[in-house]
Amino acid sequence: MTTLFISDLHLEESRPDITEAFLAFLDEKAAGVEQLYILGDFFEAWIGDDERTPLQEQVAAALRTVNESGTKIFLMHGNRDFLIGEDFCNRAGATLLNDPSVIDLYGTPTLLMHGDSLCTADVEYQKFRANMRNPQWQQMILQRPLKDRQQMARQLREISMAKNQGKEEFIMDVTPGEVIREMEVHGVQRLIHGHTHRPAVHELTASGEPAKRIVLGDWDKNVWWLEVRPGEEPALQKHPL
Ligand code: MN
Repeated sequence: MTTLFISDLHLEESRPDITEAFLAFLDEKAAGVEQLYILGDFFEAWIGDDERTPLQEQVAAALRTVNESGTKIFLMHGNRDFLIGEDFCNRAGATLLNDPSVIDLYGTPTLLMHGDSLCTADVEYQKFRANMRNPQWQQMILQRPLKDRQQMARQLREISMAKNQGKEEFIMDVTPGEVIREMEVHGVQRLIHGHTHRPAVHELTASGEPAKRIVLGDWDKNVWWLEVRPGEEPALQKHPL
C-alpha cells in the first residue's frame, strides 16, 4: 500500500520536459499505487475546462489510464489552476478535493492544503485570493469567451510577476503561527502542502504535541514527490528533471 503526493508541476506548453517527466512518473511511480494526491498548481494556468488544449487532453488521458488501473486520484486547486472543474476531473478520472481537507492516512489524520492560504503576511495577495475564490465572480468569468479569458490570464500573470519581485522572502513563505493555528483547528499533528517551492520536513509543536509540516517541491529543476506507506515515516523524494 502506497500513497503519493505531488504539487506545483506548473505544466505548460513551454515546458515539454516537465510534461514528459510527469508522464514518466505516472508510468514508473504512480501506476499500481493506491492513491495519488495532486495538491495544486498542477497547471501553470487554467481558464476553464472548455479550453481543452492538446496538453490538457494528453494529461487527462494519462491520469485516466492510471485511474483505470486502480489508483484513486485526488486533485486540489492551487492559486494558478483554481478554475479546474468537474469536467476536467471526469476526463482525468480524478476527484476534486477541498482546500483544506483532512484525510485518514493509514491511521494518521493528515491535513492537506495547497499552502497559499498559509501565507498570511502577504495581505495584498490574500485579498486577491478571496476575490478569485468567490463563486459568483468565477461563474461570471467562465461565461466570457475563451479569447477574453486567455487575455485576462496573461495580464494576471504579468501583474503577479511584477508584484512578487518586490516582495521579501518571509512574505512569500508561510506564516508559522498560521500553520500551528490551522493544525490545531483541524486537530492534526501532520500537514502536507506545496505552493512555496521550499521542499522540506519541518518539526514543530501543535496542541502541545510534536507535529510535522511536510512541504512538497516544485518541478522546475527536480521531480519531487512524497511517498507514504503504512507504519513508515513519509519520505520526501526527488530526482533531477
Ligand atoms: Mn501555488
